[in-house]
Amino acid sequence: MSINATEFTDIDPGERILMGPGPSNVPARVLQAMSAPCIGHLDPYFLSIMDETQRLLRFLFQTENDLTIPVSGTGSSGMETCFINLVEPGEEVVVCINGVFGTRMADIVNRVGGELIEIHGQWGRAIDPEAVRKAVKGRSPKIVAVVHAETSTGVCQPLRDIANIAREAGALFLVDMVTSLGGMEISVDNMGIDAAYSGTQKCISCPPGLAPISFSSAAMKALNTRKTPVPSWYLDMSMVKSYWGADRKYHHTAPINMIYALREALRIIAEEGLKERFARHLLNHRALVAGLEAMGLSMLVPETERLPMLNAVCIPEGVDDVKVRRALLNDFGIEIGGGLGDLQGKIWRVGLMGHSSTRKNVLLFLTALETVLKAEGIKVSPGALEAVSAVYS
Ligand SMILES: *Cc1c(COP(=O)(O)O)cnc(C)c1O
Repeated sequence: MSINATEFTDIDPGERILMGPGPSNVPARVLQAMSAPCIGHLDPYFLSIMDETQRLLRFLFQTENDLTIPVSGTGSSGMETCFINLVEPGEEVVVCINGVFGTRMADIVNRVGGELIEIHGQWGRAIDPEAVRKAVKGRSPKIVAVVHAETSTGVCQPLRDIANIAREAGALFLVDMVTSLGGMEISVDNMGIDAAYSGTQKCISCPPGLAPISFSSAAMKALNTRKTPVPSWYLDMSMVKSYWGADRKYHHTAPINMIYALREALRIIAEEGLKERFARHLLNHRALVAGLEAMGLSMLVPETERLPMLNAVCIPEGVDDVKVRRALLNDFGIEIGGGLGDLQGKIWRVGLMGHSSTRKNVLLFLTALETVLKAEGIKVSPGALEAVSAVYS
């Protein structure tokens, strides 16, 4: 079989404004760091980059945990890493489900042979801690698992009460921080979290491809005292930790240039400061919501349970979901997300994550949406930009 190489042109996707559920826009500095020379994965220079990346990740997770590393794979590989290392066949695992990512956790627990105890909550609302208390009563589950920021619905799950319930039940507390890490207050150590995972392409604003994870000493003990081997060779943290730790024992070749990118993205976060970064996410979220509500649109999630980085907007009656999103992309270069599962066609998911969370993007998006809705013949109340200005001033 032969091909004509001239058919294949240079890759040139053009500019996009990424305001969906991830990836977010990647700063030029991060892309530049990725293009540094690829060197050996045991090269002393690269080993120092690995050490710095771990230090920066501990800062971001707010933890002293020794095992705090980026797993080679996207956010879902971080999810799988947590369950596959910490659950043995027949052990009880409580999973809180109020969206797509809780559902994915439950799927993984079943695959690793855990005894799944599901707690279902309404999509678009946080899980009531009392439901967790009831579910663990009279049991001693190995793990209680929740999604901190449910990207499919825009709901923020308060962690404190569930962390206490997990601790009283003698369970490890496992938290999905894929969307929340880098965009809102998180402290793995202060919040009593035993296993946390994230992804690089949401509020960290690095391309997708790595899953930062952190295991507490209790989680490490559970791993070290397993009766059965971890059923995944690739994601077995008892081996991977020897590569990231002092032993430098070869396990798999680290994705060198992705780790350059993550280190640069984390360095940018450290330069901005966590408090400043979280305040920026909150302010731009409040401005966006003020603008949307002034236009006559409404949010899916009640105010007290909303995420600052992912906004679920109810699609008004009679509006063509796909047509609006296509117009935003074609005419303005703006990507937003549609709804998943039962929420398909019912909501838009507007992300303000990391580098994409800017005043400029908020104003551009509201202007673009107003233009597109009007072109569709939808009545839009005036005053969005005034409402936004009031938030910023
Ligand atoms: C995006 C996301 C994931 C999955 O991450 P991938 O990088 O797509 O594998 C898991 N959990 C949550 C909450 C997410 O938003």
